[in-house]
Amino acid sequence: MKAVTYHGIRDVRVEVVPDPEIKKPTDVIVRVTKSAICGSDLHFYRGKVPMDEGFIVGHEFIGIVEETGSDVRLLKKGDKVVAPFWVSCGVCINCRNRVPTSCIGGGGCFGFGKAFGDIPGGQAEYVRVPFADSTLEKVPENIEDTKALFLGDIFSTGYFCAEWANIKPGDRVAVFGDGPIGLFATASARLFGPSLVITVGRHDFRLDVAKKLGSDLVINSRKEDPIHKILEVTDGRGVDAVLECIGSEEALSSAVKITRPAGTISFVGLFTGAVPIPMLDFYLKDLTLRGGVCPSKNYISQLLPLIENGKIDPTAIITHDLPLSETPKGYRLMDSKEENAIKVVLTP
Ligand SMILES: [Zn+2]
Ligand SMILES: [Zn+2]
Repeated sequence: MKAVTYHGIRDVRVEVVPDPEIKKPTDVIVRVTKSAICGSDLHFYRGKVPMDEGFIVGHEFIGIVEETGSDVRLLKKGDKVVAPFWVSCGVCINCRNRVPTSCIGGGGCFGFGKAFGDIPGGQAEYVRVPFADSTLEKVPENIEDTKALFLGDIFSTGYFCAEWANIKPGDRVAVFGDGPIGLFATASARLFGPSLVITVGRHDFRLDVAKKLGSDLVINSRKEDPIHKILEVTDGRGVDAVLECIGSEEALSSAVKITRPAGTISFVGLFTGAVPIPMLDFYLKDLTLRGGVCPSKNYISQLLPLIENGKIDPTAIITHDLPLSETPKGYRLMDSKEENAIKVVLTP
């Protein structure tokens, strides 16, 4: 089969590799019908996290079950399924506590190398899914691939960030980040009934999409100081909640400044090192800080009706739909933001 493999910094290739096979009775093989390049794939692409030479990458995909292991009970050949980015065993203590991303029973991340469970990824024609019953979620046959695809990662992550921000009806909310997750966080924040959603980003073309997804006010931080502007539109009081979707030290410390006393900062941006937080401000304002990696598995069936009923159209963020053979170009576009790229999806 054809699959996307890693070969070094800014070097991914489409290669012919052996077809995946059922290795354990709880595995299934999925024929991938659509996959995507995630912003977190850019971490290894840019050499910021290590990756194994030749490893099959990709952790966002949707497809059809092609073959099932003998112990698979809930899935059968022909089922349409979405994968969360994290494989989970379903029975270990963390899975039972609904933290599948901390699975200690053999889970891991698709397409992130040996350090993250050694599970080949979904930017490929076929993919082996371990613990298929507990990992995969079925979706209706008639739902478009591009609509359901993001349930496994970026839509769930954006929603999780909004949910953890404790948004009440009438609240004022600021979202930091205009990438795919910031855009989904913007759309998700809207669902909680806020009176004002502000999206802060650095690209007008992305902020235009934020407006389409429900942002009332967009701030391009290259042109305008977001702290000043947010305080100005909230009468100096600040917002009730900040959703940090970048993993930026600067955004996090801005969040402390523009969150009102007893407000909440929720983050899903990936911080790879220690981050200084202005603790005196944090202390004097009684803030709450919550965040982390989204247990996206828990959200797939919950969020599906929002798509089915047209409340959210995930395809609004797709800028490129490329054949799998052009994946290297897709990485270049996402990395450079050329051609106003936001989200690149791939068709095997
Ligand atoms: Zn991802
Ligand atoms: Zn587990």
